[in-house]
Amino acid sequence: MKPVLAIYPGSFDPLTNGHLDLIERGSKIFDQLIVAILRHPEKAPLFTLDERREMLESMTGRFKNVSVETFDGLLVAYARSKGAGAVLRGIRAISDYEYELQMALMNRKLDRRLETVFMMPAEKYSYLSSRLVKEIFRHGGSVRGLVPKKVEERLHSKVGRAYRAKPAKATAKRGKRNQ
Ligand code: ADP
Repeated sequence: MKPVLAIYPGSFDPLTNGHLDLIERGSKIFDQLIVAILRHPEKAPLFTLDERREMLESMTGRFKNVSVETFDGLLVAYARSKGAGAVLRGIRAISDYEYELQMALMNRKLDRRLETVFMMPAEKYSYLSSRLVKEIFRHGGSVRGLVPKKVEERLHSKVGRAYRAKPAKATAKRGKRNQ
């Protein structure tokens, strides 16, 4: 059997322990795994592409068959350019299923040689998403154990600044209402 290269595409804004769990599982079943960060023109990400890549690279360095890249455009075109045979995606709950099924079937229609492989993270990460991490952090909650330490530090330096800027506005509003 020829070696299988798989692509794990996503926004990774930011990388969570759920993503890392999946990367570790993927690295065990595929010969090579490329974590591919999608540049999403419609989304305003919290972290720049370079920041996301840097966090991913430093956290996946221990997996010798894992590399990190960025891409835009059609996933199937990118996968073809890499000679990939599979796409890795994560399924957390039933709510992921509908969207993921639609994407997988559309990608199969565009390129029937490309297989999508779904993996489930450890249960403790099954309710974890980058969006929730950002929300929790913005509101001053703890994300310990949900993201790598390095990501937590980055969140502090990025969101910490934005978060500190907010109370000033809130105080001004409250001040007006109280007048
Ligand atoms: P996207 O914008 O493509 O959904 P994400 O970075 O949010 O990008 O997710 C990339 C992939 O990782 C998706 O397949 C998603 O289902 C999966 N994923 C995200 N969080 C987790 C998690 N906690 N456990 C398992 N898979 C996850």
